[in-house]
Amino acid sequence: MSNTFHHVDVNHPLLPEKAREFQMFINGKWTKGHSSENFVRKSPAHDIVVSTYPAGTAEDVDDAVKAAREAFDSGKWSRISGGARATVMLKTAQLIRENLAELALLETLETGKPLTQSRGEIQGAADIWEYAAGLARSVNGDSFNNLGDNMLGLVTREPIGVVGVITPWNFPFFIGAERYPYILAAGCTLVAKAAEITSGTTLLLAGILKEAGLPDGVFNVVTGSGSVVGQRITEHSDIDMVSFTGSTAVGQMALQASAKNIKRLGLELGGKNPQVVFADADMDAALDGTLFGFLFNTGQCCVSGSRLLVERSIHAEFCRKLVERAKKVQSGDPLNESTQIGAIITEKHYQTVLGYIEQGKKEGAQLLTGGSAVKTDKGLFIEPTIFDDVTPVMTVFREEIFGPVLCVTPFDSYEEAIRIANDTCYGLAASVWTSNLDKAVQGFRDLKAGRLWVNTTIAGGPELPSGGFKQSGIGRESGSYGLDEYTEIKSVHIQLGKRAKWLAE
Ligand code: NAD
Repeated sequence: MSNTFHHVDVNHPLLPEKAREFQMFINGKWTKGHSSENFVRKSPAHDIVVSTYPAGTAEDVDDAVKAAREAFDSGKWSRISGGARATVMLKTAQLIRENLAELALLETLETGKPLTQSRGEIQGAADIWEYAAGLARSVNGDSFNNLGDNMLGLVTREPIGVVGVITPWNFPFFIGAERYPYILAAGCTLVAKAAEITSGTTLLLAGILKEAGLPDGVFNVVTGSGSVVGQRITEHSDIDMVSFTGSTAVGQMALQASAKNIKRLGLELGGKNPQVVFADADMDAALDGTLFGFLFNTGQCCVSGSRLLVERSIHAEFCRKLVERAKKVQSGDPLNESTQIGAIITEKHYQTVLGYIEQGKKEGAQLLTGGSAVKTDKGLFIEPTIFDDVTPVMTVFREEIFGPVLCVTPFDSYEEAIRIANDTCYGLAASVWTSNLDKAVQGFRDLKAGRLWVNTTIAGGPELPSGGFKQSGIGRESGSYGLDEYTEIKSVHIQLGKRAKWLAE
């Protein structure tokens, strides 16, 4: 069975000789599902086929939901103790670590991101599974012992039920880890649908969970397109909640489809995140941070710092130094240990990013560096690109490009910086660079975003929640806040002693 692990020597990662043929995972079993069609995934960096997946159908989703519902109702996961759930989740973390080389290589082959980065993401994911295992033991409610002698009030939390989880292609394993362990810690069962082009590591996780002792039917994976599998999940009337991570446009469709049975919806959507650099910032740190902020994951990152707002008194020097550094960034084969940024995910997205670059040039933004595809015999690579003098009316300022493109806008005052930073329909993340504590605190208070960074960027960890303001989403993932999202609350009044009669005798 091709979903099982093959040995990979981490020091000599080789391209696979043949594509890996995956199956779906429903009710604890591997299955081809109802369709005979397959999705074929090529490595965007090497242009060879690395994986195939069944193109799932609506019936496959129905089968998976049925399995998840029966598993939930049986209580074999939802009613066992948090401690028993934690045991399975800790074992999962251990198995993720043991299979890190395999998971990281597959992640890199399917996404085109540097292997060094994939290793970090898999390790980070194992950390999250461990953290969430702890939370499984502390799902708690509240009590009201102040309602008088005859009454006790309790607030209890219960798992919400069957959750549908739809995830994007940019951090397939890591984004899954920011959702699945919290869902499982809460006691829910789930149907996962990873992006159709990067489902491999989610399927490997399904095998890991089975090995770790997760009961059949609790974790199901249906592979396939968004318009078929994703759509069926969002509209399914036997799913209690959907956690959707992806673009704002598809998030809006998920919102409409979920109205059918008034299911709860968590939305983690797009961003156009400002990095605000004040003249009093540590320039060296701000240069390195803003460079990393827009190039990490080749800019294909929801929290990418893709707008740089820089105080006019340092604007010229900052841009000159940023361009010098951007030219030194190592781009290329993600299997090379020294590569810092890899390939663009698909030919279609590559054309979209190049289209935005052309649009920026046409609209009068000043190209400081990059601006073209990298000429290679294979793979989809785009040069780190920096535009200066970008104004808020330009398309490149307003729309999420999701590539290695930075838009620079100078500002003259604190008030102007905040106004420009907040001038977007998004509110996912923002960074402030300053050595003035008052300005830093004022800055994070005034910026309208769910994740803020002061003198750093894209820092994270399982303890803190993430999510967006405005059109960047609804709800929060991660931390104890993330777990709460997957619970329902009951309030219970318990009468003690005799109840005062309504009808006089
Ligand atoms: P996308 O919206 O195209 O796809 C996301 C997922 O939705 C995929 O699994 C896709 O198959 C599925 N989908 C597509 N059509 C659907 C439909 N009609 N119904 C249900 N599901 C459907 O996004 P993408 O291109 O995969 O990812 C990039 C986007 O994701 C960017 O906008 C990025 O900002 C966002 N993102 C947000 C976060 C966050 O935490 N806020 C994290 C990562 C990515």
